[in-house]
Amino acid sequence: MSLERTKLATVTDAVIVGAGPVGLFQVFELGLLGLRAELIDSLPAIGGQCTELYPDKPIYDIPAVPVCTARELIERLAEQIKPFNAGVHLGQEVTHVHKREDGRFDVETSRGARFDAGAVIIAAGVGSFQPRKLSVPDAEKHEGVSIHYRVKDAEAFRGKDLVILGGGDSALDWTLSFAETANSVVLVHRRADFRAAPASVDRMYALREEGRVDFLEGTVQSIVEDNGVLTGVRVTARDGVTRSVSLEQLLVFWGLSPKLGPIANWGLALNRKTIPVDTQRFQTSVPGIYAIGDINDYPGKKKLILSGFHEAALAAFAVKEYLSPGQKVHLQYTTTSPLLQKRLGVTEAAEELDSARRA
Ligand SMILES: Cc1cc2nc3c(=O)[nH]c(=O)nc-3n(C[C@H](O)[C@H](O)[C@H](O)COP(=O)(O)OP(=O)(O)OC[C@H]3O[C@@H](n4cnc5c(N)ncnc54)[C@H](O)[C@@H]3O)c2cc1C
Repeated sequence: MSLERTKLATVTDAVIVGAGPVGLFQVFELGLLGLRAELIDSLPAIGGQCTELYPDKPIYDIPAVPVCTARELIERLAEQIKPFNAGVHLGQEVTHVHKREDGRFDVETSRGARFDAGAVIIAAGVGSFQPRKLSVPDAEKHEGVSIHYRVKDAEAFRGKDLVILGGGDSALDWTLSFAETANSVVLVHRRADFRAAPASVDRMYALREEGRVDFLEGTVQSIVEDNGVLTGVRVTARDGVTRSVSLEQLLVFWGLSPKLGPIANWGLALNRKTIPVDTQRFQTSVPGIYAIGDINDYPGKKKLILSGFHEAALAAFAVKEYLSPGQKVHLQYTTTSPLLQKRLGVTEAAEELDSARRA
């Protein structure tokens, strides 16, 4: 690696791949041991499966929290790790992890961010979530130009003829939003049965009555091009008739599917789509790289959030030992350790509580 590349890298104790509940708690456990972490996730928000798959569902098996929604759990974790001020890098996949001769790691993301990390902790769940793509011939070459899987800049679609594919919240929310700014909006979904919030669906039908959006029940068969420019899609409706719908921009919101992705290329021993680890350190086949949460595998593994929390605690001690070989790492309690309370930024609060108790 050239000097210039090294200069640009963020130097840190640990990079955590994945900001699901387990990756978030890893920040806390490292922080208690005085270690700084950088957290990276391919999604635009923290929370992993909790945020992406079931934010409003209640969880009943988090110790000492009889019930909370998945979104609340992530909010509480975010609050709990605040004192440790981890760098958070969202919307970018960790693509490259390379162990150097000095035992540290060069880490790179899909957006070109670089890290010089003492250790790497993979908390990648079921892999990185990727948008489900339109798999018709030649669609790929229009990606990012006239076929989009997420909206980076809504203004880019102002005044355009849009076709939106999907029946979930993203598809409906963008249909309603672009009804205000686009020249035309046609929503295409395979059936008139939507996963999106009923209020959004009602609003879409109301806009259709007003002639401000159109809705077509059908499936995209192919794209239409004119001199290499995307100009439409062919949609087969439920009645079996195929129509061409013209467009300038196509937005596809078919949800996300998990892929192990680049992790498979980091030289780690794998067991299908999981990473075998030992249960003392949660270390992978490469010393200095750890795996916790849903992504790891060991005898008796249970894919539960609370198992991931335990794994994060032990992995933090292992990282500390890896970074300071030969130094004993003492177990301390947050209740009584002035050092841990200082790291948590609660020293005064703890003293006040203590003197109130003595008084
Ligand atoms: C519907 C449902 C209900 C559930 N209910 C419960 C329950 O009641 N109790 C319970 O304990 N568990 C429950 N679970 C399971 C629980 O959600 C998982 O065990 C938990 O989310 C695992 O956390 P994690 O942090 O290991 O992984 P995840 O939550 O999967 O997060 C991993 C993150 O890593 C990111 N990532 C992966 N690869 C990369 C990469 N290369 N670069 C950047 N980012 C990457 C992903 O984008 C993702 O955000 C439920 C799961 C589902 C689907």
